[in-house]
Amino acid sequence: MDSPLIRIDDKQVPLYRIVWVADVPHFCGEADCMHEGDYEVRLDVDDSLWTGATERDAVVEALTKWCSDPRGEEGDWL
Ligand SMILES: [Zn+2]
Repeated sequence: MDSPLIRIDDKQVPLYRIVWVADVPHFCGEADCMHEGDYEVRLDVDDSLWTGATERDAVVEALTKWCSDPRGEEGDWL
């Protein structure tokens, strides 16, 4: 089976590269912050993607499915 992909911020990301997904919107107080209110999706390289609440929920759902069926044996996801 091909690697499961999820679309985040106009990028197709393999689920296995995701380390964690933020539960709350980003807030750091920096005046020039570009990601205020976005949800952070941490990748296993030293990088993060930023997304909105709806897309974040889709990422968590895809991860949850994948983690419970990593080989895609149920074959019904995506
Ligand atoms: Zn910030």
